[in-house]
Amino acid sequence: MIMNINKITEKFKNIDIQLNERQAEQFSIYYKELCIWNDKINLTSILEEDAVLMKHFVDSLLSTKVIDYKDVKRLIDVGTGAGFPGIPIKIVYPHIEVVLLDALSKRVIFLDHVIEKLDLNGISAVHGRAEDLARTDLRESFDLCVSRAVSQLNVLCEYCLPFISNNGLFISYKGNKTIEELEQSKNAISILGGKVESVVDNIVLDASTNRGFVIIRKESITDVKYPRRAGKPLKRPL
Ligand code: SAM
Repeated sequence: MIMNINKITEKFKNIDIQLNERQAEQFSIYYKELCIWNDKINLTSILEEDAVLMKHFVDSLLSTKVIDYKDVKRLIDVGTGAGFPGIPIKIVYPHIEVVLLDALSKRVIFLDHVIEKLDLNGISAVHGRAEDLARTDLRESFDLCVSRAVSQLNVLCEYCLPFISNNGLFISYKGNKTIEELEQSKNAISILGGKVESVVDNIVLDASTNRGFVIIRKESITDVKYPRRAGKPLKRPL
């Protein structure tokens, strides 16, 4: 259950991220808490040490290949689950104010616990559905929204774009159907005030995983009718 600190440092070095001792220790503590809590609540099907290191921790930071996090001030992770990619991003870039959002309250209780254990400041976990929380003061208040493994892109755009302020970015972590999903999402992106900035289709993480990203720029304010009521974006995607 103890993740090797040297291994953590080395794997991050492979993607050009130099962790300090404290950051590597935070990843190790995070791994331990994931293992302990996963016995009580379902957090992740991936638990083996190397797999968590690559498929959760390093993968979360692969978006550093597509944007410069040094300029990011406020980030929201929609459908964060056990904290991916939001918590690893916060560990590596502690200056960013982070909001983790998830619809499952048990996962949010875990996130609060991890935030305390890792002694992170400027990060909070919020329980609720994106469709509802996008109608609170969180609306249009982030310069970056990230989301991994939550829904198909056209649905995800309706969850995520309302949270982003003008000229901010949405980075959707996608797999090997990135281009196909993008084709089906053009209507949604345009209706919600976005514009595709770039698409990265093939970052090889390991022998079994390719990572794609769709990067969408918020070009105009999202009409107040979006997102539609909870459940509707998934049932009837734009
Ligand atoms: N992003 C994490 C990851 O990559 O490991 C978790 C992925 S998990 C498959 C999807 C998560 O999205 C779940 O924890 C679920 O509760 C959350 N979710 C799905 N739809 C949501 C919505 N409309 N609003 C908020 N959270 C949602």
